Amino acid sequence: MTHRRMIAEICSLLLIISLCSCMDLGAEDDLQNAKAFLVKYGYLEDEKDYSKTQLAAAVRNFQWTAHLPVNGDLNDATVLQMHLPRCGMKDVSQTKWLHGGPFYTNHRRKRYTMKSKWYKRHLTYQILNWPWYLSSRQLRHAVKAAFQLWGNVSSLTFSEAAGDSADIRLAFFDGEHNDGARHAFDGPGGALAHAFFPRRGEAHFDNAEHWSLNGKGRNLFVVLAHEIGHTLGLQHSSFKNALMSPYYKKLGKEYVLNFDDILAIQMLYGKFSEPDRLCSYMC
Ligand SMILES: [Zn+2]
Ligand SMILES: [Zn+2]
Repeated sequence: MTHRRMIAEICSLLLIISLCSCMDLGAEDDLQNAKAFLVKYGYLEDEKDYSKTQLAAAVRNFQWTAHLPVNGDLNDATVLQMHLPRCGMKDVSQTKWLHGGPFYTNHRRKRYTMKSKWYKRHLTYQILNWPWYLSSRQLRHAVKAAFQLWGNVSSLTFSEAAGDSADIRLAFFDGEHNDGARHAFDGPGGALAHAFFPRRGEAHFDNAEHWSLNGKGRNLFVVLAHEIGHTLGLQHSSFKNALMSPYYKKLGKEYVLNFDDILAIQMLYGKFSEPDRLCSYMC
């Protein structure tokens, strides 16, 4: 072997080794990111070493929720799904997943799930802050319409609080904002917002998103309506077209409440009825 040829072979060998180690690092990053995602959204228990079987079970449950082919493989489609913009709330209560999850216990999609409720029919809200580029008038209109979406199909009524003692408070935050590391916002994309179940009455939105009320950017109305659903006591729905499904969708004609959302809110607060509505203000 000539000297030149030997150098060329050593170089190509080094290139192959470095490519392999890059691929390994990429795969390892994907695995660590996937584990963090599965913990954040309630598919895996926090701070544990997971066996391959446990990880595959968690991936299967996630694939089932995300309407992907269920095989337990951390394939490209599954990893891609984990990077799509979504609500920052868990998909289901952790204990339920850890005891098998719906993929194992029942292949039928469970209808709406509810967490807790308010024990009054009229709720007030307050908008604590908002991005500088949104007009106050437009934002107030969007928030009112988002609450009204739920009020139209249930016995609930809503009004903006005059003072600062509202039942439900809406606010925009950057990054970590004093409600736990799990809730820290992650910049554009990923988790867009989260909320708290009754009766904490708070919904938080990631200030790093470019929110929009006119179709250019992240549609705030859709996310407002979804997070308000959580503040009223609804958990995520496994129906793809439900407003309470965890993944962000652009505003489209299907973006009215789905039957699953309507059944859920009516199960908690009853149907809309005019006498009830008068009573919520006057009785
Ligand atoms: Zn949500
Ligand atoms: Zn928060």
